[in-house]
Amino acid sequence: MNKSTIFFDLDGVCANFNKKAKEILNKEIDHEGRNISVEEWKIINDSTNHLYLNLEVMEGAEDLIEFASLFPDNFDVKFLSSLPSKFDVKNAKDDKKKWVSINFPDIPLIVVPKSSAKSLWCKPEDILIDDKSDVCLDWIRQGGFAIRYVTYEETKYQLFQLIYERLLGKEFKYSNFY
Ligand SMILES: [Mg+2]
Repeated sequence: MNKSTIFFDLDGVCANFNKKAKEILNKEIDHEGRNISVEEWKIINDSTNHLYLNLEVMEGAEDLIEFASLFPDNFDVKFLSSLPSKFDVKNAKDDKKKWVSINFPDIPLIVVPKSSAKSLWCKPEDILIDDKSDVCLDWIRQGGFAIRYVTYEETKYQLFQLIYERLLGKEFKYSNFY
């Protein structure tokens, strides 16, 4: 197989944006982090100069990255993150770079201006792990594989299946492991 890339989204997959937004806005943030109005983005932006620098690492993110990094002959591992499209958040790009250099210094980061631009980075068979359904669908349309992140455990299992099938060239069957 040709070498391909496993791309990880940052917010909602590796960086806990929703937790921080919930703290600032005092309301539940939906899974894809989209129920934030322009007015609420302004509140977030006024409350901190370094939103993205101070996000917690998501539960399981280190394990996912470590697992994806076990196959350096077959897969590169990179972050692929977009800037918020509704609002120009202070220091967003620099803070994302710093966050990665602190928390995952070995993993390169690509920042795109909006989430719909992520699929421009997709080469056939590249894998994307992202919490937004439309971003995953765009990726698949470009010939990639996408895992829509819901939980860390499910994502790890699906990534395991994908890697297994790619490396061995046969369908993953749970019974292979009995
Ligand atoms: Mg995301």
